[in-house]
Amino acid sequence: MGYTAIESKVQLGQLLVARQVVTPDQVEDALAEQTRTGHQKLLGEILIGKGYCTENEVAAALAECYGVPYAKIGPKICDPKAIEVLPREFCEEHAILPLFRVNNTLTLAVSEPANLFLFDQIEHLTGYKVQVVCATAKDILATLRAYSPTANVFVIAESLEDKGLEDFALVQSGAPQAEAGGHAGEKLPSGPLAEAANQSTVVGLVNYLLCEAVRQHAASLHIEPDDKSMRVRYRVDGKLCEKSRPPYQMHAAIISRIKIMAGLDVAQHRLAQEGNLRVMVDDRPVDLRVSIMPGTWGEKAAIRVVDLQKRLMALESLGFTIENLQRFRQVIQSPYGLVVVAGPAGSGKKTTLRAALSELNRDDVNVCTVEDPLECPLPGVNQFEVNTSMGGEFARTLRHVLRQDPDIIMLSEIRDQDTANIAVQAALTGCFVLSTLYTHNAPLAVRRLLDLNVPSYLASDALLGILAQRLVRKICPSCKQAYEPSGSIRRAVANLGQEIPQYYRGTGCTLCRNTGYTGQIALHELLVPDDAIKEMINERATPSQLRARAIEKGMVSMALDGIEKVKAGIISIEEVLRTVQWES
Ligand SMILES: [Zn+2]
Repeated sequence: MGYTAIESKVQLGQLLVARQVVTPDQVEDALAEQTRTGHQKLLGEILIGKGYCTENEVAAALAECYGVPYAKIGPKICDPKAIEVLPREFCEEHAILPLFRVNNTLTLAVSEPANLFLFDQIEHLTGYKVQVVCATAKDILATLRAYSPTANVFVIAESLEDKGLEDFALVQSGAPQAEAGGHAGEKLPSGPLAEAANQSTVVGLVNYLLCEAVRQHAASLHIEPDDKSMRVRYRVDGKLCEKSRPPYQMHAAIISRIKIMAGLDVAQHRLAQEGNLRVMVDDRPVDLRVSIMPGTWGEKAAIRVVDLQKRLMALESLGFTIENLQRFRQVIQSPYGLVVVAGPAGSGKKTTLRAALSELNRDDVNVCTVEDPLECPLPGVNQFEVNTSMGGEFARTLRHVLRQDPDIIMLSEIRDQDTANIAVQAALTGCFVLSTLYTHNAPLAVRRLLDLNVPSYLASDALLGILAQRLVRKICPSCKQAYEPSGSIRRAVANLGQEIPQYYRGTGCTLCRNTGYTGQIALHELLVPDDAIKEMINERATPSQLRARAIEKGMVSMALDGIEKVKAGIISIEEVLRTVQWES
């Protein structure tokens, strides 16, 4: 062992020189340092430390020294099952990574191919023959981290690409369904559920469903059983659509597989459970929030998709009218005060917040967020996640963040009295605070703040602006056609004092999966309180009084904003009627 190591150091130096990676002087220098420091470091480490070469160059040279392949590794090329062959701490300590196992041979990525003693030990530990490839310690540790068992990381391979749902249904109907005697409603017949859930068909099907959900930009995926069948639906552009109906016999195994992936209790069927997992789809990390709940016909799974690398949208691309965009930009440029984005779930509030934040985020300001859950990493922003299941945690985290000397704070939501009051205080004492409220329009957001026991004189002082919004589906441009709407729709539009010269809608084509819609756009109403409205807030005026006054002062209601987008041929009148409360 010792002999090999010493010889290899000489060889490594020579090889790096021969490869013109380093100069002979640099090798001399490194060897001298190694002697001086009592051989505590490997030659390669010293060369890298001195900046003479990179980790990759040393790994490639080491591989050649020992006659083993050099591999650039990452999460995609290793088999999660193989990793479990060795204890994680052991892998981390020695910077080794089991890549895959074929029959009795375990292929191992190592950063020090000289360590023959270690490989003997691993052969002894696992009972497999060890085959070594050389990689950098950095890549090995990064890959190990991607597979951290607490993070429940799964790599969904590209091998699914050419598969359709039929492949899975077909394979499955030949096997356990036949065993079950074809009786609908019967559970998978044999063995514990965990075993059934690991059957390759179930694994493949679940991978396929998750992968497709991510690729189709679904916001969530639902697996819903009834008495004889099971359906899988995706929420795309705000609407649920059926994706598939896998054989009902697979239901229990599919749910079990999802539980395993999310680290939940497979044996528990009577209680609701929640968990998380991370999948790598097309080299992108995507977080999935899993909720499983027992229903009349068995457990239902709802999986929310949180795309961690979702592109930050610019404010311009969110569907603001020019006037609203200008006013909103003015509002968010204020040095302090409170700006609220209001709307129901799925109205794109957080996308707007993030877009606003990315405009405000500069090198000379301290931007902090308090989020539950943390959804999208924002470069240069100090993000803090809250675990609200602990109760009252949100307000406590916000108090801590306020001691971090922030200029700008983004709160993912104001939903309790403490948070509301701290946020308003912060807004009045020099912070710019951005948050969301779960209300249906702008004046109702004012009411909500007062209902959360924020004193009206503070609310009126702090509020810079309230942007209420909804998301509506855009007409598919490739099947867009002019049409004549019904008389009741025309009358509703006329009642608003509006006239729409030409109505459009999508008739359905392959591009829009026959829905007639592609993508979404927001409808807005922006309330910027002037002195008169502030006075009204202070005196606790009703939402409808506030609305009347704001419209008098130039606020465009969401309904009218929608009508403008109908006139422009971007959305259909039906979408506006469906999503916005219709008031004259
Ligand atoms: Zn279309």
